[in-house]
Amino acid sequence: SRASEALQRLVRDIPDFPEPGVVFKDITPLLADPDGFAAVVEGLAQAGRDADGAVVVDKVVGMEARGFILAAPVALALGVGFVPVRKAGKLPHDTHQATYDLEYGSAVIELHRDSLQAGERVLLLDDVLATGGTARAAADLVGRCGAVPVGLAVLIELGFLPGRATVGDLPVSALLTV
Ligand code: 5GP
Repeated sequence: SRASEALQRLVRDIPDFPEPGVVFKDITPLLADPDGFAAVVEGLAQAGRDADGAVVVDKVVGMEARGFILAAPVALALGVGFVPVRKAGKLPHDTHQATYDLEYGSAVIELHRDSLQAGERVLLLDDVLATGGTARAAADLVGRCGAVPVGLAVLIELGFLPGRATVGDLPVSALLTV
């Protein structure tokens, strides 16, 4: 597909970032390429549509920080709202909080309690699925609002890590698996 071709051409490996032993997928060259960026946004948006092209989600939730860059245009492409999941201390109103382990370190993320209505169907969006800890925590936050996580869409799945197992029943759409 156009999206996977763009990913293979425009995402670069950065060895030993942010710490020794980690090979970081740097998506900034992809974001700087308008055709590549458009291709991956359209590819990700497909996760929010059924086989007939009907939009089947009510909100797109993006994870700080690179998830924001992708989730906002995907939400606009689907004609639904964008909701941010942020690192602790950034959201100004009442939040739900979840603590989780990262590929490197651990973190707390938050979601505004009033950002999702009970029963809303949510597409989760991020750039990379690694261990799955971030996505699982974000799905948990969505559930605590009474909303329903119906899928996770990512640019790249690191297939050598247990991301899919970590997110359990949540369907994963990855434009590229490495
Ligand atoms: P996980 O929680 O699945 O272990 O890690 C996923 C989170 O860490 C995502 O928010 C993602 O942005 C970030 N991440 C982990 N590894 C990489 C990587 O190699 N490249 C990029 N761009 N982000 C990564």
